[in-house]
Amino acid sequence: MRRKIVAGNWKMNNDLSETEALLNDLIAQMPSTHASVMVAPTFVNLFQAFTVLKGHDIEVIAQNMHQEENGAYTGEISAKMLKSVGVNTVILGHSERRAYFGETDELLVAKVNTALANDLEIVFCFGEELEDRTSGNHFSLVESQLRNALFHLDVADWKGIVLAYEPVWAIGTGETASPEQAQEMHAFIRKTIADKFGSEVGDEVSILYGGSVKPANAAEIFAKEDVDGGLIGGAALKAADFIAIINAI
Ligand code: PGA
Repeated sequence: MRRKIVAGNWKMNNDLSETEALLNDLIAQMPSTHASVMVAPTFVNLFQAFTVLKGHDIEVIAQNMHQEENGAYTGEISAKMLKSVGVNTVILGHSERRAYFGETDELLVAKVNTALANDLEIVFCFGEELEDRTSGNHFSLVESQLRNALFHLDVADWKGIVLAYEPVWAIGTGETASPEQAQEMHAFIRKTIADKFGSEVGDEVSILYGGSVKPANAAEIFAKEDVDGGLIGGAALKAADFIAIINAI
C-alpha cells in the first residue's frame, strides 16, 4: 500500500506567532487519519514548530535547502542544519524556486544528492507551464524533468522520495487540473518511473498533486487511482481548510 500524504507548503507566510497559532489550531482540530500529515513553515520557525507539535502526529518539513554541505554561502541553509533541528523531509524543485530563483535540473541533481546523503527524504516537485500544455508538450516536459533530476538515482534511493506533480498554471491561480487531467499525468509519471526503475518502485512511490487544491475539489482529485495525496499551498494557511482536505483523503 502506497503512503497517502497531505502536505502544507506555507511558502513565505506566517511569522512566529502566526505559526504557533496555526499549529495550535491544527492540533485542536486534527482528525484521526491514515495519511501522513506534513507542514512546511519557513526556516526561522522550524524549531518552534517542533516544540509546538511535540507528541502530535504532524511532521515538520522544510521548503528548500542549499546543495552544499557548508561554507561561504551567505543566507543559505544546509541539510545538516535542517537535520539538527529535527527535519527529516525537504521540498525540492518547487516551481517558484525554479521560476524566481533560477533553479535548474542540474542544480536539483546536486540538491537531491545532498539531501539523500544526509538522510533527508525529498518531496520532489515538477510540472509543466501553461504553454507546454496548450502546445501538447506536457508529457515530454514532465518526463524530461524527471529524467534530468532523478534518473541517476539507484533503486534504493526511491525509499526516500515522494513526487509532487504541480502544473504551474494551477499553482495559486484558483485553476485546478481536472481529476481526469491529474490522473492521466500521474499514471504517466508512475509508468515513467516504473520503466526506468522497475514496477516495484513505480507501484510504491507516492505521487502527490499540487495546484489550487481546496476543500471543494480535494476529494474528487484524491479519489483517483494514481493520486496519493496533495501538496497544498493557499488552503494550508487556514486550519479549517487544511483539516477539510485531510478529511478528504
Ligand atoms: P496552491 O499552491 O495550493 O496555493 O496552488 C500549491 C503549491 O505551490 O505547492
